[in-house]
Amino acid sequence: MATPRDLLNAAKAEITEVEPVDVVDLVGSTIFLDVREPDEYEQGAVPGAIHIPRGHLEFQVEGRILDKAAKVVVYCAGGVRSAFAAKTLQDLGYVEVLSVNGGFNRWKDEGHPWSTPKTLTADQRNRYQRHLLLPEVGEKGQLKLLESKVLMLGAGGLGSPSALYLAAAGVGNIGIIDMDVVDESNLQRQVLHNMDRIGERKVDSAKKTLNNLNPDLNVATYDVRLGADNVLDIIDGYDVIVDGTDNFPTRYLVNDASLLKSIPVVHGSIFRFEGQVTVFDPYNGACYRCMIPEPPPAELAPSCAEAGVLGVLPGIVGSIQALETIKLLLGIGDTLVGRLLTFDALEETFRTFNLRRDPACPACGEHAGEIVIAEYDDLCMPHGS
Ligand SMILES: [Zn+2]
Repeated sequence: MATPRDLLNAAKAEITEVEPVDVVDLVGSTIFLDVREPDEYEQGAVPGAIHIPRGHLEFQVEGRILDKAAKVVVYCAGGVRSAFAAKTLQDLGYVEVLSVNGGFNRWKDEGHPWSTPKTLTADQRNRYQRHLLLPEVGEKGQLKLLESKVLMLGAGGLGSPSALYLAAAGVGNIGIIDMDVVDESNLQRQVLHNMDRIGERKVDSAKKTLNNLNPDLNVATYDVRLGADNVLDIIDGYDVIVDGTDNFPTRYLVNDASLLKSIPVVHGSIFRFEGQVTVFDPYNGACYRCMIPEPPPAELAPSCAEAGVLGVLPGIVGSIQALETIKLLLGIGDTLVGRLLTFDALEETFRTFNLRRDPACPACGEHAGEIVIAEYDDLCMPHGS
């Protein structure tokens, strides 16, 4: 029967070992794989290392290190677990695997760079378990979401489902702008609010609901009218803007400001039984002015509070906006940049149309002049549809 020493020697005979000093220059450009236990990893690791405890290696590594031709530097605390891990990786088809002799202990003793990795708490691991099971999200993605900042324009029909789902998914910083108070007629579709909140400022009602849902959340509220005088200050620093407003002046204002600040806008709109969603990514895809160069005359514009809208419809459109926002934050999948998704509730059909950037667009086109943030119309105040 083989002793543990025999097994180690057999593994070492088949792998390549390196000294810390041989691979320190590869930090930042090469994959480092830390196979220690979570409590060891959390106290310090090679910067940027992927962490998979030895016991989970076989079943997790192919989802985390997709390119089997890539060079992988494996380390543990002293060089034993990494030797076995390196052998396993080779058996799984990874072609260039190096095991660090002396492991992280020698790495640290020799004064090579290391840092304390950001990790989720035990409560967060439990809360976001279903995200952690997706390699496309994982702990890294969840930490990214927790650090992200999303601004909701409107805490109404579209802002309600968007904000609820973004908060639940662990988007850690949510700003909400809305100048309305909760009215009983809102409750047919604006699911952030309830009977106890009637007469309360919508931003306060929204904040209470979201904080009850997820204590990880920081909610910033803006009980102001979004205008040319404040839009640039308010949107500054946000990663994504979710536009759930229902009027043309605000959409143009937000479009121009987001181009200046290079912030993507997830646009949603609803009217009667129909909804639309798209993503305006500044200078990368179409902008709102590429799609609608001029606002329609006021008598034809389906805007402001009086248009009918079927309940549930904003839930569908707003949820898609939340989904697009998460994809933008994580950099996964194909977003609706350059595409308009339309939904017809009576037909129960979705359609997508290409939305091209207009070279002659007055805001983002090749010959567009300097963007001036200006008011367009004062008839329809920004509020959630
Ligand atoms: Zn444009």
